[in-house]
Amino acid sequence: MDFNFTEEQQLIQESAREFATKIIAPLAGQIDAEDKIPAEILDGMAELGFMGIPFPEKYGGSALGYEYYVLVQEQIARASAGVATLFSVHMLGADAISIFGTEEQKDRYFPDICKGKLHPSFAFTEPETGSDPKQLVTTVTQDGDYAVINGVKRFISAAAYEGPIVVFCKDTEVGGVSAYIVDKLCPGYSLSPAWEKIGGHGSPIYDVYLKDVRVPASNLLGQRGQGFDILLLGIAFGKIGTSTIALGGILAAYEDAIKYAKEKLHRGQPIAKFQAIQLKIGHLAAKYHSTRWMCYRLGTLANDILSRRSSDWRQFEAEAALVKGYASDTAVEAAKLSMDVHASYGLTKDFPIERVYRDAIICPQIEGVSDMQRIIFAGSVLF
Ligand SMILES: Cc1cc2nc3c(=O)[nH]c(=O)nc-3n(C[C@H](O)[C@H](O)[C@H](O)COP(=O)(O)OP(=O)(O)OC[C@H]3O[C@@H](n4cnc5c(N)ncnc54)[C@H](O)[C@@H]3O)c2cc1C
Repeated sequence: MDFNFTEEQQLIQESAREFATKIIAPLAGQIDAEDKIPAEILDGMAELGFMGIPFPEKYGGSALGYEYYVLVQEQIARASAGVATLFSVHMLGADAISIFGTEEQKDRYFPDICKGKLHPSFAFTEPETGSDPKQLVTTVTQDGDYAVINGVKRFISAAAYEGPIVVFCKDTEVGGVSAYIVDKLCPGYSLSPAWEKIGGHGSPIYDVYLKDVRVPASNLLGQRGQGFDILLLGIAFGKIGTSTIALGGILAAYEDAIKYAKEKLHRGQPIAKFQAIQLKIGHLAAKYHSTRWMCYRLGTLANDILSRRSSDWRQFEAEAALVKGYASDTAVEAAKLSMDVHASYGLTKDFPIERVYRDAIICPQIEGVSDMQRIIFAGSVLF
């Protein structure tokens, strides 16, 4: 057990912090207002090698472990949850192709994914199902060398960017779920207007309409009927990103509370002198440190799965659920504590906590709501 960063981990954390502070943070209010990420941010992340951080060098990746991804994502999320959400989804779609894709599929997509020219998506939610993907009704049928997909996917992130989207479909011929890689914006692919949501701006979500979308049968990801396994492991990897969006929010809440407590004066003294404020800072510190070590460990568990040091996918899925549920709910608690330090000023757009608070509320509801995460983990120890 070693709780110290290596020199390389420290370097990447510092470079992510510098990029987030100098390039993302000054634009965070604009991203929130416009629901759009300026290209210079995504280009800058790609230049630093972040878009392909855990993927092999032969595909243009940085060949670093998932703990590096967590260190980078934490700092990005500290500056903007919207940018971090897009980054998380980019990795979610890429992870599924990286783990289950053929060499040909990886060669086709990864160089541009790692350069940030393509942003993958991952589509399981539908109007009739979120928490229970076994109920999905999007269909795939075979037509010669082609697979034909029809259905509606709901709340899909990064759906308007070019790139592959992993679509989960009911495959009645084999009696299960199959996953297909579709090129976004292809014929038959269209989008609803972006949903208006409370936070996470910069990463809009859409309904994706798939009408007779034809893809070569070779776009199948994994085996026919294996889609549910791909979905579960893919989402488990996705939870590394979502947990770390929450972690970055907690860090923002914590650091902003410290800053405000030192600046705001009452009778000529900073409010930091009040014990009630000190208690809140103490609670925030505990929330930050407990969550960060859970997230860093989840990154190393992902490495274990991929390097086959562990083959217990189900245990990894349970651990990812545990961390995601905890980190998400803790982000909401931390945002509330920091808001209480700021009091009424925190409700105004003059202070970042107003945005951090709205962003935090997103975390427990996405990629499986928090209660479902606890139920998943409980299942791993009870049955
Ligand atoms: C910002 C954002 C980005 C998103 N991005 C994507 C994306 O890229 N791709 C994608 O596919 N989806 C995406 N989603 C959708 C998201 O993952 C789902 O909305 C989420 O999984 C929850 O599903 P639901 O909203 O349908 O909730 P429901 O399943 O309707 O759940 C409602 C409530 O019922 C409870 N509940 C449901 N079933 C059970 C049960 N069996 N036992 C106990 N309680 C239960 C839940 O805990 C919850 O409290 C995104 C959503 C948002 C807001």
